[in-house]
Amino acid sequence: MYNVMSPKAEEFISHEEILESLSYAEENKNNRELLEQILEKAKLRKGLSHREAAVLLDCELEDINQEIYALARQIKQDFYGNRIVMFAPLYLSNYCINGCEYCPYHLKNKHIARKKLTQEEIVKEVVALQDMGHKRLALEAGEDPVNNPIEYILECIHTIYSIKHKNGAIRRVNVNIAATTVENYLKLKEAGIGTYILFQETYHKESYEKLHPTGPKHDYVYHTEAMDRAMEGGIDDVGLGVLFGLNNYRYDFTGILMHAEHLEAYKGVGPHTISVPRLRRADDIDPDVFDNGISDEIFEKIVACIRIAVPYTGMIVSTRESKACREKVLRLGISQISGASRTSVGGYVEPEPEEENSAQFDVSDNRTLDEVVRWLMEMDYVPSFCTACYREGRTGDRFMTLLKSGQIVNCCHPNALMTLKEYLEDYASKETREIGDKLIEKELDVITNPKVKEKVVDYLANIHKGERDFRF
Ligand code: SAM
Repeated sequence: MYNVMSPKAEEFISHEEILESLSYAEENKNNRELLEQILEKAKLRKGLSHREAAVLLDCELEDINQEIYALARQIKQDFYGNRIVMFAPLYLSNYCINGCEYCPYHLKNKHIARKKLTQEEIVKEVVALQDMGHKRLALEAGEDPVNNPIEYILECIHTIYSIKHKNGAIRRVNVNIAATTVENYLKLKEAGIGTYILFQETYHKESYEKLHPTGPKHDYVYHTEAMDRAMEGGIDDVGLGVLFGLNNYRYDFTGILMHAEHLEAYKGVGPHTISVPRLRRADDIDPDVFDNGISDEIFEKIVACIRIAVPYTGMIVSTRESKACREKVLRLGISQISGASRTSVGGYVEPEPEEENSAQFDVSDNRTLDEVVRWLMEMDYVPSFCTACYREGRTGDRFMTLLKSGQIVNCCHPNALMTLKEYLEDYASKETREIGDKLIEKELDVITNPKVKEKVVDYLANIHKGERDFRF
């Protein structure tokens, strides 16, 4: 029903509409009456249009900006509570035939060590990730139909799901690979992926084409329509993203919201997540052309405004960002973070020798997972290793229904506490375990349904005795 007459990329990301929205935002950035009206609408927690959100992003009135941040924090709290979902990226292959100017995997980079994991190496990488406590991965690969064809990606997914090691098992595999065909998305769906993630990099067609001068990724329309094809292939949960720092951030902020509106209107469900990667220095990338692009202050404002504009969409920040920056954006809307990430192929088993330089970019947060988990708990967050929704078939609009029902406290919260308990029992240091056990005790009070609470107490005791994988 939703596929009928779906508009094309250049219609749903209309350049003219973005330019008009940006002029409207510029004209109204000090228009108190309008800004207050938009904030009133935002307080209904039903989201904002891209035009309205663009005005908030540009707002220059200090008191209104403070209200924007306060509302973002409140919406984050109301929709996601204090749970933070944990994941790790797994780099499968850095072979790539594209010419992305900002990415060290680009074909012309001849001094990067090209690597592709064999299935045996994948087992070792995944065991290393499981031994840290990870349950959710995001697979990353360059685009290369010869070295990394879809069959390779599917084989990797199959290998990962079949690894059983001590108490570990990867329970959800998300995939971040290049735009592909409906047939291939169908295959990814059948392989049991969680979210299909693809960053648009920039919605500005002209810049996009310059930044991707060669290779299949050069095709702006094919790339921009990838999520429509993914959904046609049956993938319910898709993750959008823009690489902030490549292009005008106001343009891309508006573009990503228009993309979300398009998916909602024509596919019946908006994006499951929005990622906010910021450009990092990397091998063979000119730091004078590509630096960090946007300031921390603007980055924080973007996170807050996305939180308000699409309250039902999870938001992801990676270890591209420092501990200090992550701390700030966690409050403003981020609901998922990576921990202890390695961005080189094979990097979890063997940290890469300096001269090989195959990492995709430098990470800013180098802490271990135990340190990240403890840090979160010390700030009263509940690190969650939950993968239940996807495994219980609560994807796409069924997940959104749960989110909208307000029953999250009796579903996600118990799942978060139980998966945290597993982590504490199996992987945490003594100090982290002590903090975690106290936190779980306190957080039981968030569960409002007494029957659910009783069950959770029971399950937690069973987890302590060695049983695993309880979920609602
Ligand atoms: N090859 C796939 C594609 O082209 O979409 C996806 C995998 S790529 C490993 C994942 C993402 O890394 C890219 O979409 C891009 O946004 C990001 N990336 C590339 N170069 C980067 C850099 N220098 N700093 C930060 N992120 C970067």
